[in-house]
Amino acid sequence: MEVFKGIPVSPGVVIGTVFVIDDERVRIPKRTVKKEDAPNELGRFEEALAISIAEISTLRDQTEKELGGEVATIFAFHLGMLADPTLTDPIRNQIRDDQVTAESAVSAVFHQLAERFSKMDDSAFQAKVNDIWDLDRRLLRKLIGEHRSQLVSLSKGAVVVAPDLTPSQAAELDRDRVVGFVTDSGGKTSHTAILARAMNIPAVVGVERLVNTAMDSMRIVVDGDRGIVILDPDDETVEEYTRRIQELRTFRLSLDELAGKPSVTRDGVEIGLFGNIEFPHEVDIVLANGGAGIGLFRTEFLFLNSESLPTEQEQFEVYSDCVKRLDGRPLVMRTMDLGSDKTSDRWMFPEKNPALGCRSIRYCLQHLPMFRTQLRAIVRSSASGAVKLMFPLVTTIHELRQAKMIVRDVMDDLDEEGVPFDRTLPIGIMIEAPSAAIMSSIFARESDFFSIGTNDLVQYTLAVDRTNERVAALYTAAHPAIHRLIKDVVRSARRHDVPVSICGEAAGDIEYTILLIGLGLRSLSMTPSLIPHVKRIVRSVDIGHCERVARKVGSFDSERQATAFLRDVTRTIIPEVFDGRSVDER
Ligand code: PEP
Ligand code: MG
Repeated sequence: MEVFKGIPVSPGVVIGTVFVIDDERVRIPKRTVKKEDAPNELGRFEEALAISIAEISTLRDQTEKELGGEVATIFAFHLGMLADPTLTDPIRNQIRDDQVTAESAVSAVFHQLAERFSKMDDSAFQAKVNDIWDLDRRLLRKLIGEHRSQLVSLSKGAVVVAPDLTPSQAAELDRDRVVGFVTDSGGKTSHTAILARAMNIPAVVGVERLVNTAMDSMRIVVDGDRGIVILDPDDETVEEYTRRIQELRTFRLSLDELAGKPSVTRDGVEIGLFGNIEFPHEVDIVLANGGAGIGLFRTEFLFLNSESLPTEQEQFEVYSDCVKRLDGRPLVMRTMDLGSDKTSDRWMFPEKNPALGCRSIRYCLQHLPMFRTQLRAIVRSSASGAVKLMFPLVTTIHELRQAKMIVRDVMDDLDEEGVPFDRTLPIGIMIEAPSAAIMSSIFARESDFFSIGTNDLVQYTLAVDRTNERVAALYTAAHPAIHRLIKDVVRSARRHDVPVSICGEAAGDIEYTILLIGLGLRSLSMTPSLIPHVKRIVRSVDIGHCERVARKVGSFDSERQATAFLRDVTRTIIPEVFDGRSVDER
């Protein structure tokens, strides 16, 4: 049994079996297999080798035909390497003698060779280093690609263990089979973590060394409340965690009873609780949890996993499906927030500094045909429901004006075509960059509503990457700077009579509920499964108490004081969630 510590990003506890995914972009860790599995690994290597040789031969023939024999010699060199037993035999030996996975052996042998070549004085050898990496990647793609595709045939109860998972990989996981995941890197508000919460599966990120130690089929405990991962647990630990799972189930059932009850404070003030979704079927989950509608539809997820861009009609059908499921309840559609950690290597360029690069509304304004297609689909869907349109990461007033102008243009076109839509469709912005928060009174004059995105607001205000586990301790919405910004935004919104909501992860974190209400927010949008937890707090407090808490938090000069205070205040209302957790563990 071995215990690991990481960052808890999606609550709940699960006992499952390990399934390791080695991403081809990172170092392949040395992973051993059971002795009886070594022949299988050898077979995987021989197959990957044969497919690679066939592919390169085709490439060589094609290149020779199109570009001539000289250019094709590069592939002849590749073929020569793969046919050379002085390269391939050490791989076979490692698999057989050290009982490692095929990808570990390939990676280790190619690394050694590349290192040897790069140290040689002869520049002809040094020039071959890139060819070696190329071959290494080709073989690994076969091996890992194959392993990854097994995700589809995963057995039930799998806990995915990976160095990292992109949001699109996480979205592809089979929800019926994957019961948890653990990664080496990541942060609480990375989109991969957000997806884990949406999928309602416990997850822990920032766990060092686990990928190197975990082996497929090992038993594993994932404690998404405390950020603890236990590999190969003993019987006593399994018993203890089985009891905890039962307790959590009972607690969850008591919360489910709240679903039909109104979300009002003890003194009768209504607090609108909405859901954040990535896919249309989640609308039902929001409603089942007692949500009043959708406060954030992250439409970019429709684009991330598709081979080609979805057409206007395809998008229209998805949006209309949501509208229908909502039956008149509000739906805030955010235009595609692509970029940063939500990219597609199929059709987006890699960025040097992705969080500060061409992302979100900037990306849309630079890719107008794609933007217009989405706007047409969204605007058309407004004909049959309470649709609102929202732009992500607006940082200048010109972006808002330009985006609104394009919406008007799209509406004019639809009018001319006789296509029905709602001309009064509200158009709002996310406040998730410090510039938008500071200038909120200016933005309020030209926006129909605001939604505060604390995930990015924290990242940009505190200069802390939301996906980086090494700076995760610095990432917190309890920072006094965030407090001030939220307060200012709510004040500007009220002054201009602009409805303001919050849709960052802080909205679903029960430790912030009292503070947010105290700061004047009356609408919170969150991961669907958290709605009952937040409702429980809402129904237990009155506005005066919340305002006093907010004033007190406003007087602190550090996030530590704020966090400890908010935790204590919340603990008195909902102690069950804190049971078994010490402050240090959270
Ligand atoms: C946010 O930044 O707070 C937000 C809700 O948007 P996302 O998490 O999709 O970046
Ligand atoms: Mg954001």
